Amino acid sequence: MAQNSRIEWTECTWNPVRGCSRCSPGCQHCYAERMAARFSGPGKPYEGLAAFTPSGPRWTNRIGLVRDALDQPLRWRNPRVIFVNSMSDLFHEEVPEAFIGEVFDVMRRADHHVFQVLTKRADRLAALSPQLPWTPNIWMGVSVEAAEYLHRIDRLRKTGAMIKFLSLEPLLGPLFDLDLQGVDWAIVGGESGPGARPMEVEWVRSIRDQCIAATVPLFFKQWGQLSTNPDPGDPTAKPNGGTAKGGRMLDGRTWDEMPGRPPSRSRDHSADSGEVLSLLRLRSCAKWQRIQALALIPRVGSTTVSRNRRAQAATAWPRRVR
Ligand code: SF4
Repeated sequence: MAQNSRIEWTECTWNPVRGCSRCSPGCQHCYAERMAARFSGPGKPYEGLAAFTPSGPRWTNRIGLVRDALDQPLRWRNPRVIFVNSMSDLFHEEVPEAFIGEVFDVMRRADHHVFQVLTKRADRLAALSPQLPWTPNIWMGVSVEAAEYLHRIDRLRKTGAMIKFLSLEPLLGPLFDLDLQGVDWAIVGGESGPGARPMEVEWVRSIRDQCIAATVPLFFKQWGQLSTNPDPGDPTAKPNGGTAKGGRMLDGRTWDEMPGRPPSRSRDHSADSGEVLSLLRLRSCAKWQRIQALALIPRVGSTTVSRNRRAQAATAWPRRVR
């Protein structure tokens, strides 16, 4: 079974690699590291890969290759949007090139799914890119948490990925001068959890405005903490955290844009709440035509999509992404 995800911009996760190591400030409160430490006891999936230390949960810097998981997406018949390696980084230096190639080969063959691969190891990504089969269903993203790491976007631009995206999360500083050329999607979010570092409102507004100017779809995931949210009446902010931590409205509306959905600048939160299934329409350029129609299930606030609706969504997908 696919592991359903609570991450707002995907549907489920697939983890053919386990384990990681910290490589930049965005890793400081790594959710995967915390989760892995919880499941690192004898006989557990992350045994030897993470541990609780006096300083808190820590990766051991060892990597596990999960060969049994490799062919899972080929067995999932219903088309899905799949976040690859939510508990690792596929381009980690300890993951053998041959294994990265095998993961890409599965993604190439399972072309009824959309795969979202996200890395902080942009140098290795750029170096390996010429060897990888960049089919349209493989979306490639880099994380950029502060201006010091903007060079990762340049590396991403060099790849053959047909859909390139940015995860500007946890946003730790201003990104007032983003080069969005060749970028197809931007996700923004603040840090959540114990010791979360605050995100300033003007940083988010600046990214929104730059995305509008460059017609890049924007997905605003969350403020991270209630204290960071400038709107105390934000109806998407849940007292106990919930999925969208600290709420996810920006200046009176949510931003749930994704590649394939033409930017909509006028939707407000109330309109989004009633939307269960959206059959994505495509732009006229060649790239979008190749992707054809993707059906995605927007998850707005606490909207729960019924099993029935999920079935309808699945059947609305094309059998193949060309
Ligand atoms: S690269 Fe990602 S998974 Fe690895 S430590 Fe950093 S945040 Fe965690």
